Amino acid sequence: MSLLKGFKFAVPAALGIPAALCTAKAVAVKKTLPDVPPAVSWTSEEEQRYAEKLSAMVQIPTISKKEDEPYESFLIFQEKLAELFPRVFSTFENYDLNGNLLRRWKGTDPSKNGILLMGHQDVVPVDQAGWTKDPFSGEIEDGCVWGRGAMDCKSTVCCELQALEELLEEGFAPEQDIWFFSSRNEENSGGGSDAAAEYLQSQGIRLDLVLDEGGAIVAGMIPGLKLPVAAIGVVEKGFCNVKFTAKSAGGHSSTPPKNSPLIRLSKLMVEVDRKMPFRAKLVTPMPEILDNVAPYLSFPLRFLLANRNVFGGLIKAAFVHLSGQTRAFVQSTAAFTMAEGSTAPNVLPDEASVICNIRPSMQQNAQQTVAVLQKIAAKYDVETEVLFSRDASRTSPPDSAEFKILEANLHACLPDCLVTPYLMTGGTDSRRFEIVCENVLRFTPTRLSKEQIEAMHAANENVSVSAIAEGVKIYKYLLTHR
Ligand SMILES: [Zn+2]
Repeated sequence: MSLLKGFKFAVPAALGIPAALCTAKAVAVKKTLPDVPPAVSWTSEEEQRYAEKLSAMVQIPTISKKEDEPYESFLIFQEKLAELFPRVFSTFENYDLNGNLLRRWKGTDPSKNGILLMGHQDVVPVDQAGWTKDPFSGEIEDGCVWGRGAMDCKSTVCCELQALEELLEEGFAPEQDIWFFSSRNEENSGGGSDAAAEYLQSQGIRLDLVLDEGGAIVAGMIPGLKLPVAAIGVVEKGFCNVKFTAKSAGGHSSTPPKNSPLIRLSKLMVEVDRKMPFRAKLVTPMPEILDNVAPYLSFPLRFLLANRNVFGGLIKAAFVHLSGQTRAFVQSTAAFTMAEGSTAPNVLPDEASVICNIRPSMQQNAQQTVAVLQKIAAKYDVETEVLFSRDASRTSPPDSAEFKILEANLHACLPDCLVTPYLMTGGTDSRRFEIVCENVLRFTPTRLSKEQIEAMHAANENVSVSAIAEGVKIYKYLLTHR
């Protein structure tokens, strides 16, 4: 009997639960995906044409600018968009806000709430080592479009606008208003999306759905699962920057006192690193993800996840200890990212500080997460100063009618994929639209490899031309099947 098999029977037995019952459950949940053709298709001519449009978009370097900075490159980019998607830019009503694009395609039924598609225009800088292509060449090679923004987030914008362009061309008349929003300062948390959301709120406009970048169609990200997963972000964790400062009377480095500022800061950091002191819990969408994934896993993992009521504690502990990535799904995280001491090698600092970037979880908000660290800091006579603080977004319910519509449509378009709600550990613009919408979902229907995801905000960003074409057709399907 293998260790895992032994454990499989020993743990339920210890809990007084018949192992046979757990095994029966694991067998019963097993599923396979239906063998049906996808509801969308495209031609190689379309693949090429869309890739050329995305390439033209990548070639304009729209490096993120603050709301009050000049933004010429964005005006050039917007002229290019109007050239690439002429029907959208001549038909939609224009409510642009200081270079942030807000457009509306009026629906035929004014009694209905609208929906909003979004994706940002700006990109992060290209100063990372390892680029093997010109980051703004938009080169189309090896079946991919290459360059900064090819994936994040110009592919999203390209797919959305192309879908809308084709629907206009085909004479489609939406019942609901379809809004399109594209910020020019998402990457630096600028105010473009706030302005757009507040504008909609001021006009009394409510939306049934906001669909932004976020999750994608990815294979190989979940251990033990071969199927590609269409991951729909329903919530994003919070964001805080906290400065920890330790002070002393200084001194000479030839006669160092004990517990100098850098030592005390180090003790704080070591304790946080060792204890991982935040509350670990499986909250929505984690239980939903586990339930969605379980039927398609191989037996030992399926046995565990199918009996979540028995093994919940064990699963949670595995998430905490497996990797930084899995840990981020079940608790707040703290990353010490910057440090400052004295300015010379032989001078003890009067004051030393470290900056900690914190991502508060849904179950332990920003204030509670910082309080945990502050308590540890106080032990070492270290001061805590909150520089920036934001709680996790609201969770869009995965059992809502809007989520179910999207889920069903994705099953039709992507019969080879598992569809699941998802927790975003990073942020998007879309949370700002919570003031006008209950269902803020973060998902771009493009297939990405693990390597392509790793190239986001790094060197050699790229996206497959087939993924773009599939994305266009899926957006069209989503808009015409509501
Ligand atoms: Zn992005």
